[in-house]
Amino acid sequence: MQAIRIENHGGPEALLLGEATDRAPGPGEAAVRVAAAGVNFIDTYHRSGLYPVATPFTPGVEGAGIVEAVGDGVDAVAAGERVGWVMQLGSYAGRAVLPADRLVRLPEGVTETQAAAGLLQGMTAHYLVRSTFRVQSGMPVLIHAAAGGMGLLLCQMCRRLGARVFGTVSTEAKARAARAAGADVVIRYTETDFAEAVREELGDDGLAVVYDSVGATTWEGSLSLLRPRGMLVLFGNASGPVPPIDPLLLSQAGSVYLTRPTLADYARTGDELRWRSGEVLDAVASGDLRLTIHGELPLAEAAEAHRLLESRATSGKLLLRP
Ligand code: NDP
Repeated sequence: MQAIRIENHGGPEALLLGEATDRAPGPGEAAVRVAAAGVNFIDTYHRSGLYPVATPFTPGVEGAGIVEAVGDGVDAVAAGERVGWVMQLGSYAGRAVLPADRLVRLPEGVTETQAAAGLLQGMTAHYLVRSTFRVQSGMPVLIHAAAGGMGLLLCQMCRRLGARVFGTVSTEAKARAARAAGADVVIRYTETDFAEAVREELGDDGLAVVYDSVGATTWEGSLSLLRPRGMLVLFGNASGPVPPIDPLLLSQAGSVYLTRPTLADYARTGDELRWRSGEVLDAVASGDLRLTIHGELPLAEAAEAHRLLESRATSGKLLLRP
């Protein structure tokens, strides 16, 4: 089978297509024929080495497909079932051997393509608005990169919860996409000081929460916009990592909270994994959550997929097809 392999950390050119040997699933594992793998920004951090992963490895932490075989002691899934997964390395491949208890069965009405496009970002948006901070009706919230894969889902969920949604984007086309996903006020942060623009709209009131996955270029403005005891949720570093922060800054900003969450900690148990993935997939099936697939590329073009994502050329999800 074919798989992408990273021998040495580096740029997109580090993603090399090769032949990998098939192995039978061991105890507790399932072998899955991959129908589609999701491309996520975290894959670029694994590739570059920003998030440490020992080389060599096959990147990609999200996908969906059909179970081919299971190892000893597996009763959670069976051969022939359609499944999806998140936060499991090895997804940029024709076949993946994965821990069976981390697979989720796909309900009727959700295709493998939809699962590979929606599970990771959908579950992340779910934990961010439901568990990290509980978004409620009437709350003003700010979502950076509002037309990205994460952003479009966060806009929809915050809007559905009744929040007043501010979003930042780089282009007019992305502004239209963010509005269509539910953003009330969209700011082109590459042209305008977003903090000033939000203050103009909000007056003296601050934001209840900022969802900031852009990091280096936005975190200071994000912090300055919070209302007393508001929360800055730093959940990514698309523009580069945030430098160390003096806790006194949080006091000066109004006794605000700062958190740096990651999906693995919000889907720790099997129950939590099934609860979040179940709600996301049901919302996809019912049409309550709309997925935007920016494009699909063959596995061999994984490097191009990373170039597109890192150059801000995408709005929504990129998929790789083995
Ligand atoms: P996106 O589709 O959102 O792509 C990233 C977007 O960030 C770009 O499209 C761009 O939007 C914006 N951006 C701003 N500055 C830059 C820059 N200098 N270089 C590149 N992009 C920039 O990607 P994802 O939806 O896959 O992920 C979004 C973020 O969410 C990532 O930081 C990722 O790590 C994080 N994440 C965190 C998780 C967690 O549990 N902590 C889980 C999932 C994702 P624009 O052009 O509008 O500025």
